[in-house]
Amino acid sequence: MDFSFSEQHEAVRETVRRLCQTEHQKLVAAAEENEVLPREVFARWGELGLLGVRYPEADGGSGLDKVSDCIVREELSYMSQGFASSWSAHSHLGIWPIWKAGTEEQRRRFFRPAVQGRKIAGFALSEPDGGSNIRALKTRAERADGGWKLRGSKLYITNAPIADFLLVAARTAPELTGGAISLFIVELPAAGMKIDKLRKEGIRASETGLIHMDDVFVPDGCVLGAQLGNYPVILDSLSENRVGVAANALGMARAAFDAATAYARDRLVANKRIGDYQAIGHKLAEMSAQIEAARWLVYYGAWRVDQGTLDSATAARVKLVASETAVSVSEQAIRVHGGAGIMREYPVGRIHRDALVYVIGEGTSEIQKNLIARDLGFRF
Ligand SMILES: Cc1cc2nc3c(=O)[nH]c(=O)nc-3n(C[C@H](O)[C@H](O)[C@H](O)COP(=O)(O)OP(=O)(O)OC[C@H]3O[C@@H](n4cnc5c(N)ncnc54)[C@H](O)[C@@H]3O)c2cc1C
Repeated sequence: MDFSFSEQHEAVRETVRRLCQTEHQKLVAAAEENEVLPREVFARWGELGLLGVRYPEADGGSGLDKVSDCIVREELSYMSQGFASSWSAHSHLGIWPIWKAGTEEQRRRFFRPAVQGRKIAGFALSEPDGGSNIRALKTRAERADGGWKLRGSKLYITNAPIADFLLVAARTAPELTGGAISLFIVELPAAGMKIDKLRKEGIRASETGLIHMDDVFVPDGCVLGAQLGNYPVILDSLSENRVGVAANALGMARAAFDAATAYARDRLVANKRIGDYQAIGHKLAEMSAQIEAARWLVYYGAWRVDQGTLDSATAARVKLVASETAVSVSEQAIRVHGGAGIMREYPVGRIHRDALVYVIGEGTSEIQKNLIARDLGFRF
C-alpha cells in the first residue's frame, strides 16, 4: 500500500494551483455575479492539457490517469466550483462516452477538438419529469431520412448555453429497457433546439440550460458508436464521474475548512481567538477529520478507475461520503464565521450553496444509497 502522490501528480497539482492563483482567481467574482463563464478558460485548459488528463495520448488526451483528473478537479473546485462544474460537464460527461464508444470519425470530429479546448461539450440526460429515474426518460428519437429526429426536453444541463455540441440521451422505443435508450451527438446551434439559460443559487459561474427539442435532426453519423442502445455507456460514465465529482466536493470542503481555520485564528472574542474556544476548536477538528476521510476515499476511487475495477456501488459510496462532507464542512464553516459567514465578502456561503449542488447532481444522495443498498442485496 502506498498513499503518496507521484512527482507527476504533484506537478499537475502545482500547475492547476498556479493557473488558479495567477489567471483564474481574478475572473471568479465577475463570473459568479454575472453568471457567465469566460469561454476562454476552455482554450487555456486545452493548451495546458488539463481537459484530457485521464485519456490516453494515442487518443488525443494527455496520457495521465484518473488520480490526475481528480487532482485537477480538487484544485479547480478549491477556487470555484462554478468553473470546475463546467470543466467536469465538458471533460467527462460530454466526451467520455465519445472516447469510450464513439466511432473513429466521432472521436476525430468531437473528442479531439474538445480535449484541445476548441469545442465545448455537455451531456443532456435529465428531464423535467425526472432526473433520478433515468431509464424512464421521455425524449423520443424517431427515424427520419438519413438520421433521427429528437423531440422532448432536457433540464439543468451544464454548459448547454455555451456548448458547441451536446450528447443527448433519447429513446428509440417505448420499452423501459436500457436497449431502448441511445446517445445522439447534436451540434449547436441546431434547428428546432431552443436553450433557455437558468438562474441558479449554486455554481453560478457555470452556465446551465433548459432545452426544448422539436424535431431536431441528427444524422446517422452522429448516433454514438453508430449503434443504438448505448445505455450501459451512460451508466459506466456516470459511475466514473461520481468519483470525479467526489474530488470536486473534496476541493470545496478544503476551501471552506481553510477559510474557517483562518477566521478562527484571526477573530478575537473577549480577547481570545475563537479557535481557542473548545467548541470552535472541536468543530475544526471534526471538519479536518471528515476531509481526511473523504480525501482517501476519493483517491481510492480514482485508483480503482485506474485499475479498471471501479464498480457502481463503490462509486456511489465515494460520491455519497465526499458530497455530504462538503455540505457538512461548509455549513460548519459558516457557523465558525458567525454573522460574517452569511456575508458575501466571505467565501463560505458560496461554497455551501455550491456544495449543495453535489448532493443532487450526478444522482442524489438518496440514489447513491439505493445503489449501495442494492449492492448489499436489498430491493425496494
Ligand atoms: C446545477 C445542476 C447541474 C446539472 N447538470 C446536469 C447535466 O449537465 N446533465 C444532466 O443530465 N443533468 C444535470 N443535472 C441534473 C441532476 O442530475 C438532477 O437534478 C438529479 O439527478 C436529480 O433529479 P431531479 O432534479 O429531477 O430530482 P427528482 O428525481 O425529482 O428527485 C427529487 C427528490 O426525490 C428523491 N428521489 C427520487 N427518486 C428516488 C428514489 N427512487 N428513491 C429515493 N429517493 C428518490 C431524490 O433523491 C430527491 O430528493 C444538474 C442538476 C443541477 C442542480
